[in-house]
Amino acid sequence: MPHPKKKTTKAARNQRRSHHALKKVTLIKCEKCGKPVKPHHACASCGYYKKKEVINVLKKLPRKKRVKIEKKKKKIEEKESKREKIDKS
Ligand SMILES: [Zn+2]
Repeated sequence: MPHPKKKTTKAARNQRRSHHALKKVTLIKCEKCGKPVKPHHACASCGYYKKKEVINVLKKLPRKKRVKIEKKKKKIEEKESKREKIDKS
């Protein structure tokens, strides 16, 4: 069995471990949905990066959840179209 030739002193051990601390992760707000995102990464919740849809987030969800979200979106769109009609008249 291989063995170290000499005991590592506390000082040497602590000097080695002085670089082991974790750094704080920097986060920015997503331009579309406002959720925290790593800079230069696509948003995981809406799939947008640089104002373009890069990931189809709905496709990766299970069917039940996808249908629910699509229904919600439709309702919101209908409400907006009704408002537009009222505004025009
Ligand atoms: Zn987003």
